[in-house]
Amino acid sequence: MNATDDIRGFAYIAAAVLFIYGLKMLSSQGTARRGNLVSSVGMLVAVVATLTVKGLAFHWIALGVVIGAGVGAVAALKVKMTSMPEMVALFNGFGGLASLLVGWAEYLRHPESSTGTLAAVVLTVLIGGVTFTGSMIAYAKLAEVISGKPVLFRGQKILNGIILLAALVIGGLFAWQVALPVPVALTIVIALAAVLGVTSVIPIGGADMPVVIALLNSYSGLAACAAGFVIGNTVLIVSGSLVGASGIILTGIMCRAMNRSLANVLFAGVGATVQKKAQGYQGEANPVSIEDAYLILEAAGSVVIAPGYGMAVAQAQHVVRELGELLAKNGCDVRYAIHPVAGRMPGHMNVLLAEANVPYEQLVEPGDVNPQMANCDVAMVIGANDVVNPAAREDEGSPLYGMPIIDVDKAGTCIVLKRSLNPGFAGVDNPLFFNDNTRMLFGDAKASISGLVAEFKDA
Ligand code: NDP
Repeated sequence: MNATDDIRGFAYIAAAVLFIYGLKMLSSQGTARRGNLVSSVGMLVAVVATLTVKGLAFHWIALGVVIGAGVGAVAALKVKMTSMPEMVALFNGFGGLASLLVGWAEYLRHPESSTGTLAAVVLTVLIGGVTFTGSMIAYAKLAEVISGKPVLFRGQKILNGIILLAALVIGGLFAWQVALPVPVALTIVIALAAVLGVTSVIPIGGADMPVVIALLNSYSGLAACAAGFVIGNTVLIVSGSLVGASGIILTGIMCRAMNRSLANVLFAGVGATVQKKAQGYQGEANPVSIEDAYLILEAAGSVVIAPGYGMAVAQAQHVVRELGELLAKNGCDVRYAIHPVAGRMPGHMNVLLAEANVPYEQLVEPGDVNPQMANCDVAMVIGANDVVNPAAREDEGSPLYGMPIIDVDKAGTCIVLKRSLNPGFAGVDNPLFFNDNTRMLFGDAKASISGLVAEFKDA
């Protein structure tokens, strides 16, 4: 250990503290932006400290930085806000791939490593490979390149078990350098990991996707942590564990939001076969015009706004905030009910409403607002569907059955803003649209709300 190593060690500790402090700040809307900055500074410290390691090939690092920064800049400028969930899935996947490549490259650099290091290489490529291909499937489902429904086949769980077992056994042979030529064993582990990523994510779909996205996020952290052990980098071990742990916590939150166990989400394939009973609700929807919806809202003393994925598609968050302000000015109590799985990525609605400067105190969770819903004059559903589907509460045949929802149907009047009677992400019909107290305000959410805002301003 020389002085540079000591300084680097201290810098890594400082970076780890900044990561933890930044993460803590991310837990509240008021401090989240600063939290991001603090964590970024931590990453800068970690990167600069790592560049002081002796014997680095700076020309390769520079090439990587130029290519990576170029792709990142183009993506940041081109990707639409509505495609952020797919982008997050890609980030997770590439994080896993990067760890896989680090593990693989380190083995090629030091093929004579100890059994412990080779075991860490196996874990890195295994978790990294599963994360990469699993995230690509998640991306394809979110981007609707492939169907979002679960894909199930006979013997799927057994097949997944066999692939995992085979990868671990061959990984063990690789680490102990017995039976198989070592490079061959590593290649087989990488191939099995890639297949396992696909076969373990395709059975999950519909309303369960948030859980798998949070889980893949956690895997990407665990892969980075394992890569940290391979190259002996403490800050990578710490940051990887932080991502792994926070991903697991998020997975738990998502499972609770759906009232399901993780095992049930991973292995049950709920929603693969949509039961007849859950589909084809009969009745007539009551459309409402912007003018009539305005009259209902103008007379309301309390309004709960339930946003969903459609608000993100319409980019209606700013006009929603404007409408909320006009309602409040009219003497109305306004709250925003945020379902944890609304939208297409964890925290999606919170991010959009924060961007539009909706006061954080007006945001409420379903568990807090539901008991008061019967006393609420109007519930406004803005591009939400699955998270307000009463079948989740009442219809045992529904794939959504058991998932806590926002009880918008219990409000005096429920105004639903969407373009058609089509189902949401889970592909499940919604009986809410045919209730006597529901009014359908058909059209693009931004256009409809802009119309309502204009009515309030003209009044
Ligand atoms: P849904 O996907 O259930 O419904 C969204 C609705 O928005 C659609 O029915 C659509 O109806 C409407 N819509 C789309 N565009 C517009 C527009 N421009 N204007 C008005 N309405 C529009 O969304 P929810 O938020 O209720 O539920 C989220 C679903 O996504 C859940 O099933 C969840 O499990 C899943 N999911 C969530 C993830 C997460 O991390 N949060 C990740 C992956 C999946 P129409 O076409 O008629 O307009």
